[in-house]
Parts: sequence; structure tokens; C-alpha cells
Amino acid sequence: MTVRVRIAPSPTGNLHIGTARTALFNWLYARRHGGTFLLRIEDTDRERSREEYVQNILAGLKWLGLAVDEGPFFQTQRLPQYQAAIQGLLDRGLAYFCYCREEELEALRESQRAQKLAPRYDNRHRHLTPAQRAAYEAEGRRPVVRFRIEEPREVVWHDLVRGEIRWQTQDLGGDMVIARIEADGSVGLPLYNFAVVVDDLDMGITHVVRGEDHIANTAKQILLYEALGATPPAFGHLPLILNPQGAKISKRDGATSVDEFRQMGFLPQAFTNYMVLLGWSRRTAKSCSISLPQPSGLILTG
Ligand code: GLU
Repeated sequence: MTVRVRIAPSPTGNLHIGTARTALFNWLYARRHGGTFLLRIEDTDRERSREEYVQNILAGLKWLGLAVDEGPFFQTQRLPQYQAAIQGLLDRGLAYFCYCREEELEALRESQRAQKLAPRYDNRHRHLTPAQRAAYEAEGRRPVVRFRIEEPREVVWHDLVRGEIRWQTQDLGGDMVIARIEADGSVGLPLYNFAVVVDDLDMGITHVVRGEDHIANTAKQILLYEALGATPPAFGHLPLILNPQGAKISKRDGATSVDEFRQMGFLPQAFTNYMVLLGWSRRTAKSCSISLPQPSGLILTG
């Protein structure tokens, strides 16, 4: 198997140190195995995505010396592929149109909170009749596409970093929105969880290595791979970079973007060396099936 890995940043901010570290691990893994390292720009959030951030991400990776073998690919240029995949799910009854209004969903969440239940969609539009659908359409409601999540069920995968992970589908929040429908009736740009699966499949990604804040997404994504008739890639979830208080590092802790470190005068070699050591120890190296190579210029001690 030829290793194909990627990073998939959203251009909603400058290259973050966490993304840079994820990029570094993916790049090292690709280089170690003679594989390919891809860059995909996840720009489906049109309001918050900016060209200047795309440029900042590209410049940051270059400064770090993490050469990209393929890409950048842009999700906004892949709408036809997403539309075809969504149509396939709709045709097979694995996805459906939901016409709920935001106020209705808010009322549902409110009543769940009052009963001390976790907020979730109650799948109420899963079995609409054609007449009900026509009535909602006549009211001028614009639907979203939801993917059916069967419950109860357990999703299990062997994480490359964390070992076996089990997730109950009852905890995924009900049938999930994968895309919105545009005013002209066409399927619009999909949401993250759907686009990422179609992309990783089309791009032949063999190992998805990313931050552990995506673990709950992975359970959803595995269900989507299954619905699309595909075998999921291997998944590895890296611990996040934390501040001394144990919370996710944020602007309040100081510099978070690669560019800020560059401006402070850090050398890229020193910066990558620090990142590769952060989260590495004899113990993690032993339990982790990602074996880090020792590229020249990087010092691994322990
Ligand atoms: N766009 C996602 C992020 O920036 C990508 C996550 C992934 O690697 O799947 O967190």
C-alpha cells in the first residue's frame, strides 16, 4: 500500500501551531514510508474563509520545510462530486430532506434541556410522505439534507494513537445535516463531515491523522464511508497542544500562529524540532504505531 496522507486546514485564520504540528506528523509519516503528502483547503465556510489565510497557510508550510506533494485542492471547486454522492444517498433512502425551521429545532432543544436530556434532533422528518413534503415546499420552506444514523449501534475503530475507540450512535445527536438546499433547488456545498469523507475517498487517503478534537466526527465519518460502500482509512488522533492549565492553547496564552513565531525570530528548524518533541516520549513512541523517523536536523532524545 502506498501511504497517502493529508492536512485539511480551513482558511478561516492563519496557520495555527496545532495544524502545523498535524502537518509535521503527516509529512514525516509520508516521508518515512515513501508516501504522498496532500494539502486540501477546506473552504466550504464561505463567510469566514479568506484568500489571505490560504496564502498564510501555504507560506507557513513552506517556511517549515513541509513540501506538499499534491494540492492544494479546494473544496469549493468540488461541488459536482459532492452533489453526485449526496444524490446517491438520497436515491438509496440513506439521506432525506428535513424541512424543520430553526425555531422548531430550538423549541425541541429547549424541551430536551428542560428534561435534562442532551440536545439532539429527533429524526421527525425521516419518514415524510410525498404529500407532507409537498405541503412544506408549498409553504416555501427550504430543506436541508440529513443522513440517517441508525440507533442503537456501536461504531468501533482501532485508532493508530489511542487504540480501540468505541462510540455509540445514540450519542451522535440524531440524523445529521450533510448539506443545505439552495434557492434553485440544487444541493449546496456540503458540511464538513460529508465533504471530508468524499474528499478523502476521492484522494485515496490511506491514513487520516488529525487532532483528537475530531474523534466524535470520526464515528460519523465511518458511518458515511459505510453508506458510500467504501472502506474507511486508518485513523490516528493526536493529542492537542495544551496550555499549562491543561486547556486547549488559545490566543490568550500568547502566540498561536506559525507566522508569529517566525516574526519573533525563531528558526524553522528549532520550531519543527520543538513541535516534534511535544507529545513524544518513550511511552507514546512505544504505544503509538506511527513510527517517527529521525530526519536530519531534527533531534529526538529520550
Ligand atoms: N478542516 C478540518 C480542520 O481544520 C479538517 C479536519 C480533518 O483533518 O479532517 O480541523
